[in-house]
Amino acid sequence: MATLVMKFGGSLTADTRRIHRVAQVIMAEALAWDHMIVVISAMAGATDMLNRAVELAAARDTGYRALVAKLRQQHIDVIEALFENEGSRRDLIAYVDRLLFDVLALCDNVLTHREAAPRDRDSAMSAGERIMVHLLAALVRQEGLEVAPVDAATLIMTDERHLNANPLIDLIDERVDQVIRPLFDAGIVPLVTGFIGVSRRGAITTLGRGGSDYTATILAASLHADEVWMWTSVDGVMSADPALVPGARVIPTLSYSEVGELSYFGAQILHPRAVEPLLADGIPLRVRNPFNLDHAGTLIQTENSQTDTEVKTEVKAVTAVDGIYLSTSGNSVDLSEVLGQVHRIVGRTATGPVMVIQSHQHFMLVMVVPTTEGPTAAENAAQRLMAGLGIEHWEIRVVKVIAAMGMASQGSNSELNIGSVQPIASVVGPDNRRLLAVAPADVQAVVRHLHKLTDQMAYTPIHRK
Ligand code: ASP
Ligand code: MG
Repeated sequence: MATLVMKFGGSLTADTRRIHRVAQVIMAEALAWDHMIVVISAMAGATDMLNRAVELAAARDTGYRALVAKLRQQHIDVIEALFENEGSRRDLIAYVDRLLFDVLALCDNVLTHREAAPRDRDSAMSAGERIMVHLLAALVRQEGLEVAPVDAATLIMTDERHLNANPLIDLIDERVDQVIRPLFDAGIVPLVTGFIGVSRRGAITTLGRGGSDYTATILAASLHADEVWMWTSVDGVMSADPALVPGARVIPTLSYSEVGELSYFGAQILHPRAVEPLLADGIPLRVRNPFNLDHAGTLIQTENSQTDTEVKTEVKAVTAVDGIYLSTSGNSVDLSEVLGQVHRIVGRTATGPVMVIQSHQHFMLVMVVPTTEGPTAAENAAQRLMAGLGIEHWEIRVVKVIAAMGMASQGSNSELNIGSVQPIASVVGPDNRRLLAVAPADVQAVVRHLHKLTDQMAYTPIHRK
């Protein structure tokens, strides 16, 4: 029995044209597989808006009302464009209103108490995926496919770590047997909300920003699926962010560890933990673009199962992720003491340091803020560190950490040419990985320079054809 898990990212549910394409892909693949399960993300921007609404409420700013109204309108516009049937429109709009009304009530409550618990943010953010799953289910059902919207709060059991929860695999396996298997047996395609989980106490949790990828791979492992396909609006995992580097290429194949590394260092394509559940069964993962179905995309699988001998296995890619730079001079510093303090102030928003340089009189460290923490996390963490550590002793800056994979051999004896930009810090790490911390304003220039070097090295045989 061949089983496929597919996940559609938020950029593909951003407007009616793309939602239509998503529905077409679901219809086509449903015919090709014995069992299929589809994971859906919120409309692009929705999660940010919901999170922002709660933040505004906590700051006693009633602007959250206009923000939620705007989000409502965006969904209504899509519903009106996609559904001709009055009844379907009415049902869907009623559903949107019910969920967003709950978000408003939550924000009102946060405003009164002047405090937003991580639990509140999770609960508000869950509305985005829930709305989109209902919308898509109605759309494909209209085309004649038997589907069932499934709320991941009935499936993805997690610990209590709000905003970045850890899945409880044994409990998830039980739920999958109870909820998904009967749907499969009845020939119904489950459409599951990505990103969302539920704690044993019944509180809504989330798997960290970008978490729908993780939902898909957790379900794939639980179902022993044959493949996972992540549909996105680019052709695959790119050698650099195409918004920064126009000449960025699709990387045809990657190993699990390479893609884990790329995601950790900011390649937005996948949640940093998304490959973990695939390791045990070696389930292959493809990243594909529904608007370019002829393109094979990127295939991610176990190291030794690579069959295309023409493709070099070494990764040649450049990524950028938010980071925090801390430095001090003149006093001697105890590293574990500093790390302890930093951890107390920012928790796990910033990971263990990726660069530490310590000399007699000078100390500096750079930490990564994972993409799962959301777009404003680095700035917030830096503010808290400034208040907590004291700016009279420390220089604290938000930086971009740029990772150039597999380039050390070329640059280890000479300085890398990154144009006129002066990096704040630079190291050569394990696996030929080059890390640089630069000012956010310099990120584009540096990524472009480094990417030029990958051009000379990567995939030569294939590209000469
Ligand atoms: N909607 C969530 C986010 O924006 C999850 C996802 O897109 O994967 O982070
Ligand atoms: Mg994503």
